[in-house]
Amino acid sequence: MLGPRKKGKKEKVKLSKESIQKAKGIFSYLKPYSATYAIGWICLLFSTLAGLAFPFLMGQLLGGGSQPSDMSMADSVKMINLDNVNDVALILLIMFGVMSVFSFFRVVLFTNVTENTLRDLRNDAFSKLIYMPMDFFNQNKVGELTSRVSNDITQIQETLRTTIAEFFRQIVNVGGAIVFLFFISWRLALIMLATVPVIAIIAVFFGRFIRKLSKQAQDFNAESNSIVEEALMGISNIKSFTNEFFTLTKYKKATEEIRNLNVKSGLWRGAFVSFMIFFMTGAIVFIIWQGVNMTQGPNPELSTEDFFTFIMFTVMMGASFGSIPDLYAGIQKSVGAVENLMNIIAQKTEVEEKQGELQPSLEGNISFKNVNFAYPQRKDIEVLKGISFDANKNETIALVGSSGAGKSTIASLLFNYYDIDAGTITYDGNNVKDISVEHLRSQMAIVPQEVILFAGTIRDNIKFGNINASEEEIIAAAKKANAWIFIKDFPQGLDTEVGDRGIQLSGGQKQRIAIARALLKNPRILVLDEATSALDSESERLVQEALENLMEGRTSIVIAHRLSTIRNANKILVLEHGKVVEQGTHNELVQIENGVYANLSQLQLN
Ligand code: ADP
Repeated sequence: MLGPRKKGKKEKVKLSKESIQKAKGIFSYLKPYSATYAIGWICLLFSTLAGLAFPFLMGQLLGGGSQPSDMSMADSVKMINLDNVNDVALILLIMFGVMSVFSFFRVVLFTNVTENTLRDLRNDAFSKLIYMPMDFFNQNKVGELTSRVSNDITQIQETLRTTIAEFFRQIVNVGGAIVFLFFISWRLALIMLATVPVIAIIAVFFGRFIRKLSKQAQDFNAESNSIVEEALMGISNIKSFTNEFFTLTKYKKATEEIRNLNVKSGLWRGAFVSFMIFFMTGAIVFIIWQGVNMTQGPNPELSTEDFFTFIMFTVMMGASFGSIPDLYAGIQKSVGAVENLMNIIAQKTEVEEKQGELQPSLEGNISFKNVNFAYPQRKDIEVLKGISFDANKNETIALVGSSGAGKSTIASLLFNYYDIDAGTITYDGNNVKDISVEHLRSQMAIVPQEVILFAGTIRDNIKFGNINASEEEIIAAAKKANAWIFIKDFPQGLDTEVGDRGIQLSGGQKQRIAIARALLKNPRILVLDEATSALDSESERLVQEALENLMEGRTSIVIAHRLSTIRNANKILVLEHGKVVEQGTHNELVQIENGVYANLSQLQLN
């Protein structure tokens, strides 16, 4: 749905019209902070301009020891006497003072705007995600989704906070430097422009090529490591098949590849270093040589101060020029990141997709009529084929059948996680499509197979069923769920921390907390997904008793794995490959000769 992206790689997009259009979405997030941002930009402008004065003044300072000449560009600045070294030093100091103040405010303001913007973006992205239809989560792996969002956020943070400012500063530096250079001496400027930028560009591409080679070597390195890891973990396999030689050959191939790539990159690095030494220093020597020549003679073209200023600007321009490509790449990546986040934010939430508006109080009558269903991303595989059944108010309906028969899918449809392809599902005669999803789910609860407790206290976890519940209600629910027996024995009682950082609860204890949670919600319709792993008999008894308390006076759909627990169900549906093959009470179904249920029952009870 969000398009593929290689793991761990940040997307760098070509700045196309379309991507920029999408990335413009970031502006609506920046807008509330535009005043602060504008002041930040003004500070950036001033600190950048002050920065431009640095090479100028520094050149004047360095050249200040020589005789002043009539042609000094500094003479044009009448207010201050730049021929006086002390004055220049003082001005330099003041300039740095000004620059540091503006830089301080720029950093603080940019950070403020960035953090405010990111907070809003994070909140919007998560609130979209949490309201996304179930199908979204089938199509996007949760781990990838979280790492993608957090990578995108980091990328945007870096760009908003520093990259954009740096990019701006370097562009102004290059532009400003060129203007100054021409102003000082257009002839020398032309000589310089014909050499330094060319060498800088070659250096940048050279550097990138070498980085690519090292990256390839790293990939092979990772591959060779995984060979070692795999081999040692499965050492008994290798030994038993006497495949040591084969594995070693594979490893040797990878190490040879690493060696070759690194040797190759060493060769290029060597070439790079000598290139830089020769051409860069050569170019500098050439320019200095030309420049010094211009300062010579009875009628010099260039004053010494201006010559030094020229050198300073050249150095600054070279450095700024070299850093622009990386900054630009950073901005490109951010455009990709923004585009990505905007894609998430633009998605339709479940409520936007499912437009049911009815808000009935559920009685608890459920009816499936000829329901056909295939998961949206696997439309070719029909998971439910013409399922029909009725569950009347307060009845218990059990779903049995082998793994993959479609039991959990029916449970998902009860919660209206997906749209069905054919047939109807009704609650008290109302089509599920017409009922508001939130309203429907507010009257239903599930006790899942694998209970997941959230990090927090036992109280928080029970209260999840009804966040407005009082202390008495929580305790009453815990008691009814047979959870109070163990909760009261913990020194901190309901305040005991659970989850990763808290205590570990047993499977049976977790289930009883989930039951308490469901009790607190007091739903009309209950879905129970029985745990497959058996509990010890005492725990099993406590859970079973709690479940019976929970099911009392509600319509319950039970996905059963142990037939012993559903003997008293009002109706048992036996599913096979998405079809109901048998339907009836336990007593009816065991009577069917060679029936699926009868056979299962034989197997489990013997
Ligand atoms: P059961 O609960 O009876 O074990 P399920 O309802 O989980 O069966 O699965 C029924 C079929 O639907 C299986 O073939 C399964 O592979 C498929 N299925 C289940 N969940 C999904 C899903 N999210 N996306 C695509 N196919 C699914």
